Amino acid sequence: MQRRHFLRDSLSVIAGSTLTALPPTLARAADPAVVPPARLDVEGRVLSPILASPERIIEMNVCTRPFRPKGPRIETERLGNKTLVHNYGHGGSGWSLSWGSGNLAVGLAQNIGNREIAIVGCGAIGMTTALVAQQAGLSVTIYAKELPPYVRSYRATGAWTPDSRICTAEYATAFANRWETMARYSFRRFQSLLGLAGNPVEWRDMYSLSDRPFGAGGGNDHESLEPEYPDFSRDLIADITPTAIDIAPEAHPFPAAHVRRRSTMLFNITSYSRLLLGDFLQNGGKLITLELKDRGDFAALEEKTIINCTGYGARSLLNDDSIVPVRGQTAKLIPQPEVNYGFNYGDRRVSVYPRRDGLLVQAQADTDYNNAAENLDPEESISAVNRLAEIVAQMRNPAGLARR
Ligand SMILES: Cc1cc2nc3c(=O)[nH]c(=O)nc-3n(C[C@H](O)[C@H](O)[C@H](O)COP(=O)(O)OP(=O)(O)OC[C@H]3O[C@@H](n4cnc5c(N)ncnc54)[C@H](O)[C@@H]3O)c2cc1C
Repeated sequence: MQRRHFLRDSLSVIAGSTLTALPPTLARAADPAVVPPARLDVEGRVLSPILASPERIIEMNVCTRPFRPKGPRIETERLGNKTLVHNYGHGGSGWSLSWGSGNLAVGLAQNIGNREIAIVGCGAIGMTTALVAQQAGLSVTIYAKELPPYVRSYRATGAWTPDSRICTAEYATAFANRWETMARYSFRRFQSLLGLAGNPVEWRDMYSLSDRPFGAGGGNDHESLEPEYPDFSRDLIADITPTAIDIAPEAHPFPAAHVRRRSTMLFNITSYSRLLLGDFLQNGGKLITLELKDRGDFAALEEKTIINCTGYGARSLLNDDSIVPVRGQTAKLIPQPEVNYGFNYGDRRVSVYPRRDGLLVQAQADTDYNNAAENLDPEESISAVNRLAEIVAQMRNPAGLARR
C-alpha cells in the first residue's frame, strides 16, 4: 500500500471528532495558476479573496445534531421527589434558539419554587439556560461530562439558523408558536451582545449562489434524503430579520447564475463560549465535572430542580430514540480577518463562513441524516476545500469594473 493511501485510510477511521493538523501528505497543493485577483467588488463592497487550499486547514470537526422531528423537548417530568425540566433536541438550531429555549425551561423550573437549581450540560443550551436562570435570581450549579471546547456545540458552524432541522413539516403547525416565541426572544438577546471585545456575535454578509432561480427547487442544503422541514424564518419572523437582496449577474463576481445577499448573524464560538462561561462564573455559578450514567443519577444530585441540557447525550442517557443524529463535518482554514463575507453554493455542496477563529468550510453530504458516525472523514473536508478553491478561482470582477 502506498504511504499516501495508508495515511488516508488510517485517518478515515479515526475514532474521534477533531483533527487539528492535516498531515502534509494529505494536503494537495493549490494550483499555482489559480491565483485570485487582488480585489473583487460587489455593489461597491470589497470582497477580499478567500485563500482556499487544503494546506491551510488547521482543524477538522465532526458532530451530530440532536434532531427531533417534533421539535426540542422542553417539558417537566417528576422523578421521585425531584423535578426534571428537559431542554434538549435542538437539531441544527441550538445556538440560534438557545436563549429563548432557556427562557422557557427556566420558566418551568421557576414554577417549582426552588431557588437552588442544577443544570446538567454545558453546551450552547446549558450555558445560556444557566445565565437566564441566574438573571431570574436563581442560584445555579452546572454538572457536565464535558466543558467547552470539548462539547459538541463547539463544533458547530456558528450562524443564525433558527429553523435548521428544528422539526419536520409534519409537526410544524403544532410547534410554530413555541418556535416563534423562542426565535424572537433569542434574536433580541443576541442584539445585546453586539460590539463586544472579541466579537462574540456579529453581523456579516452571506451570499447564496444557485444554478437555478431561487425557489425553483434543487440546489439547496440537505434536500434529498431528509424529511421536509418548515421555513419558519420566512413565515414567522420576516419582520425582524434583514431582507434578502437579489444581485444582478453583471453586478457580482461569483460564478453562479443566481446570487442573493443577506446579512446574517454569526457566532464566533471561541470568544462567545468564553463570554458565556465567564459571565456564568462571575455571577457566582458553580461548575462540576460529572458524568451521569442513567436517569437515576439525576435523582442523586443535591438540587431538587434540575434542567436537563444534555443535547445528543440525552439519547443514551434517557434511552430517547426520538433523537435522530444528523451528522455534520466542518474544516477550519487559517483566519483571514480581512474576509468579512461568506457564501453558500448548494449546487456545489459547499459553504464558507467568515468566523474570526478561522474560515469555516462546511461540506454537505447526502448521507448526513440519521447518521451517528462521529469519526472524521478527512477526504470529505479536503474535497470541500478544493471545491471552494475552484469557486474562488472562478470569481471575476463584475463587468465594467477594472481589476486593481
Ligand atoms: C456541523 C454542525 C453545524 C451546526 N451549525 C449550527 C449553526 O450554525 N447554528 C446553530 O444554531 N446551530 C448549529 N448546530 C446545532 C447545534 O450545534 C446544536 O443544536 C447544539 O450543539 C446543541 O447544544 P446542546 O447544548 O444541547 O448540546 P451539547 O453541545 O452536546 O452539550 C451537551 C452537554 O451535556 C453534557 N452531557 C451529555 N451527556 C451527559 C451525561 N451523561 N452526563 C453528564 N453530562 C452530559 C455534555 O458533556 C455537554 O456539556 C450545528 C450542529 C452541527 C453538528
